[in-house]
Amino acid sequence: MISSPLSDWGIYIHIPFCRSRCTYCDFNTVTGMGEDDYARYVEALLLQWDRISKMPSGHVVSIFFGGGTPSLLEPEYFKQILGAVKDKLRISLEGVEVTMEANPGTIDEKRLREYRRAGVNRLSLGVQAWQDHHLRRINRTHTVLDARQGVEAARLAGFDNINLDLIYGLPQQTLAEWEESLTGVLGLEVDHLSLYQLQIEEGTPLAGQLQRGRLRVPEDDVSADMAELGRKRLIQAGFIPYEISNYCRPHKHSRHNRLYWTLNPYLALGAGAHGYWNARRWWSIRGVKQYVDNLQNGGDGIAGEERLDRLEEMREYIWLGLREEGGFSRRRFQDRFSVSPEGSFGVTLGKLGRQGLVERRSDYILLSRRGREMANYVFREFVTAS
Ligand code: SF4
Repeated sequence: MISSPLSDWGIYIHIPFCRSRCTYCDFNTVTGMGEDDYARYVEALLLQWDRISKMPSGHVVSIFFGGGTPSLLEPEYFKQILGAVKDKLRISLEGVEVTMEANPGTIDEKRLREYRRAGVNRLSLGVQAWQDHHLRRINRTHTVLDARQGVEAARLAGFDNINLDLIYGLPQQTLAEWEESLTGVLGLEVDHLSLYQLQIEEGTPLAGQLQRGRLRVPEDDVSADMAELGRKRLIQAGFIPYEISNYCRPHKHSRHNRLYWTLNPYLALGAGAHGYWNARRWWSIRGVKQYVDNLQNGGDGIAGEERLDRLEEMREYIWLGLREEGGFSRRRFQDRFSVSPEGSFGVTLGKLGRQGLVERRSDYILLSRRGREMANYVFREFVTAS
């Protein structure tokens, strides 16, 4: 079991620019921007960082540049941002996981070397599928060849911690094609793989295509088979399943994601980014232009905040903890909330236990195999538990 001390915290930095919009995407991203927009945005990020007056105590263990497509920004910007983080916190980045999300087709070896020199030490590439026709259909701008070349370039540039994202349940995708995707990414011998089920978000072009009957996504049982096949193939290949969608080589788990799953603090910079600390959740202004204008006019970029009461925190702790392969520790729950999980959620835990969806293994409460297949149902039970 990998554990995150409560004193560990992280920083998420949102880079909202993309070359074009994928049909399924509902992230906070914009297209059609250029160098001037990038420069103004990075200035705003630096201002927002500068204006944060209180920091969690403890250690920064992760800085994560997510998007959007962070690899559209020049490496120099990463140097500036990471330099500002080091200066303000008076730390070195030695031992800190610094991840950059990137899209194949936006990177080459030279550029990747510069990102490495700027301080980025973990790369997360959105490969998504291993068939060009699927990539085109969801409007990705890269090809399978770009993905292969991207990983090769990253290795040559010195990255020894690479994640690839894959999506299953794509429109018209067959189980055989999914297996081909798994074989393809396994052949690249990376350190970490994330397998996500396609989510159909309202208002996206994909949702419209499905409503009009132009495309179909695989039935639920086929998607469940895809998830199980992914798990089997990756475990056979020596990957450790450590979260419901995530697999790693030994010691190569994502430190950043673990902060989220264990409800550790994380600060957030950038348009629409969410932070969490001390039972407070806050979010920055979502519109890129409004965000930049706010900071240039002396604001802090924040759009709103909410306080989580104790019950909400306990619920989150449990359903996020259940995402992890080993579940969550009853002792740590008790230490944090001064009550046992059964003391707070005995009815829900009892019901899910009788349904065979959660089980107890020594100090841990975790999802059973069937619970993994019905994970969304289990999580919902805790989101609404009283
Ligand atoms: S590259 Fe990622 S963030 Fe950009 S549009 Fe596609 S899915 Fe969304």
